Amino acid sequence: MNSTPAITLFGGTFNPPHWGHLKPLKQAMTALDISRVGLMPCHIPPHKKLINVSAQHRLAMLDILCKSEPSLYIENIELTCNDVSYTCNTLKKLKEIHQCTLNFVMGTDSFQSFKSWYQWQEILKLCNIIVLNRNNRPLNKLQEVTQYISCGPNDAVSLADKEALSINNGIVVSCHFPTVAVSSTLIREKLEQGDYQYLETGELLPLEVLEYIKQHQLYERIKP
Ligand code: ATP
Repeated sequence: MNSTPAITLFGGTFNPPHWGHLKPLKQAMTALDISRVGLMPCHIPPHKKLINVSAQHRLAMLDILCKSEPSLYIENIELTCNDVSYTCNTLKKLKEIHQCTLNFVMGTDSFQSFKSWYQWQEILKLCNIIVLNRNNRPLNKLQEVTQYISCGPNDAVSLADKEALSINNGIVVSCHFPTVAVSSTLIREKLEQGDYQYLETGELLPLEVLEYIKQHQLYERIKP
């Protein structure tokens, strides 16, 4: 089972991708010695506001990121099935394909609602979870998790813990790097309002992604 190194995946809608996804992810990768991460775009889940941006555009924006960050790649498994995919089922499929340990990355807000995820206990048996600090929300620890690892500017992760992450399941790593206060919602709002000035500083999202958005007139308010 452990001949292949662990695979790390970061699931999201990435509608659009932004620095809040990338900066803490890169810091966690460095601290945990993770050399590659698959960005795994999902079908837009039912609880998210419907936005008229196709999966192809979301993929194209991720592709731009991966071209400038060779440590990232796109894991397209969820977009290639027509159904809304549950993380648990996706992880099962990936485990079957790769036969190795899996790590799944999410922000603290997602971890906050983790107990409402489909078969969340099963997810803990299939992977480790790397939680990125978002808006300085404290980590809502779960009784069911037996090992928490703290990782941040002042918390070096021991070799033994790194090794545990590459062979075990059900470990939660709490990453507390400085938070980037941005969401895709905020970016979409700015674009809908035609407010490009702040976006052009490059503080919220990479300028190459913004360029793509402008070129394809994504997220603009539909004119009556
Ligand atoms: P939206 O505003 O449309 O809800 P979002 O900004 O939350 O989108 P998603 O692509 O839905 O972005 O998020 C994917 C994952 O990335 C989630 O687990 C989320 O918690 C995490 N994430 C998003 N933004 C941040 C951020 N600023 N800091 C840390 N984690 C983040």
